[in-house]
Amino acid sequence: MAPVPCAICKTSRALIIRPKNHQKLCKECFITIFEEEIHHTVTTTKLFSPGDRIAIGASGGKDSTVLASVLKTLNERYNYGLELVLLSIDEGIKGYRDDSLETVKRNAVQYDMPLKIVGYDELYGWTMDQVVEAIGKKGNCTYCGVFRRQALDRGAKMLGIRHVVTGHNADDVAETILMNLLRGDLPRLARSTSIVTGDEMSEVRRSKPLKYAYEKEIVLYAHHKKLDYFSTECLYSPEAFRGSARTLIKNLERVRPSAILDVVRSGEDMAKLVPEAVTGISHCKSQKVSLSSADGEEGAAGCGTNGRSSGGEMADMEKKLQEDEEASSREIDVTAAASNGVNGQRHDRIGSKTEPQNGAKRESGKKLTRQTLGTCKKCGYMSSQDICKACMLLEGLNKNRPKMEIEVDVEDEESSTLRRRMERLALAAG
Ligand SMILES: [Zn+2]
Ligand SMILES: [Zn+2]
Repeated sequence: MAPVPCAICKTSRALIIRPKNHQKLCKECFITIFEEEIHHTVTTTKLFSPGDRIAIGASGGKDSTVLASVLKTLNERYNYGLELVLLSIDEGIKGYRDDSLETVKRNAVQYDMPLKIVGYDELYGWTMDQVVEAIGKKGNCTYCGVFRRQALDRGAKMLGIRHVVTGHNADDVAETILMNLLRGDLPRLARSTSIVTGDEMSEVRRSKPLKYAYEKEIVLYAHHKKLDYFSTECLYSPEAFRGSARTLIKNLERVRPSAILDVVRSGEDMAKLVPEAVTGISHCKSQKVSLSSADGEEGAAGCGTNGRSSGGEMADMEKKLQEDEEASSREIDVTAAASNGVNGQRHDRIGSKTEPQNGAKRESGKKLTRQTLGTCKKCGYMSSQDICKACMLLEGLNKNRPKMEIEVDVEDEESSTLRRRMERLALAAG
């Protein structure tokens, strides 16, 4: 079979079928277009200003490693004038974090960026291993997500930095949108679509420059740029509901590659229908803090920017890439690529039948309450509640602590389920 030329430069041989739109590209053009699309995201959303100091939430995983690499490249190529710093959270997960932190330390050298590591133990008095010991594996991602969210902000504050970027990709955003859609949580859906969270009132802004980047393309980019990242999945699995949303997204992508971006765009369009008053930016948002509602928050995807599993699909892809590399002389079959018809189709909003006013009002049974910002009475962290979510979780943990330390060895599934239930009741009552 004759080699297929790259769709962009028309000269080099196409070696990559772009997951996003099945375009056939050479390696160089893929790398360039991937970077340029992120540059486009950065400039159109006016994400940064010259002189900004930016903390990159770095886990050592592929997403944040790619984010660090691309931001460094773009910062130099387009003179963004940014001061980039790597900020890592040590959750205290043995055998997982230890190794990934080593990766981040190497990244700091490779990218010539300062690195700050903040530990859960010093911030909260609990490592994630201890949390899991206390509450069991189920539901621990809620804790990890809530703690991580504050940890990054607190770490940034220690550094005097007011903007944290995270490696959340399009798949993550689509997943969160779907979850909130399925829950009927429009305010949270709206917030999750925003590239920046936090506003003038919050001390630390959060943003997701990879918001439109496909997870598969992130893997491809990391592979072809030979980036040094940590690919082992987190030991603690995500919530069942998030896992289901993830599987759904991956299945949709299989039959329609544009589905991921379509969900993201649809989420953005839906967000426009939600009155600003009910979307107000806040970290500890929900009226009744419950463990089950916490995992819908952006940034609560368990281990954040690294290592959720989707049936090991990304791991399979990495393995496949490795094999392809080894057989690099072999001609890559690009004939199986889908047509261009799937390329970034958008629905025309002008023809939409939805009346903006109906968006929020129609929701019955659940009130869309206005968000007001304050600070947590315990830790001073920004919260819409008297006590922030992290402090509430900690209270539940600490309440049970003495008892747990005695019981650890005889812990069984039933007693841990019971404990979780009691904890939830305690939280609901408080
Ligand atoms: Zn090319
Ligand atoms: Zn607090």
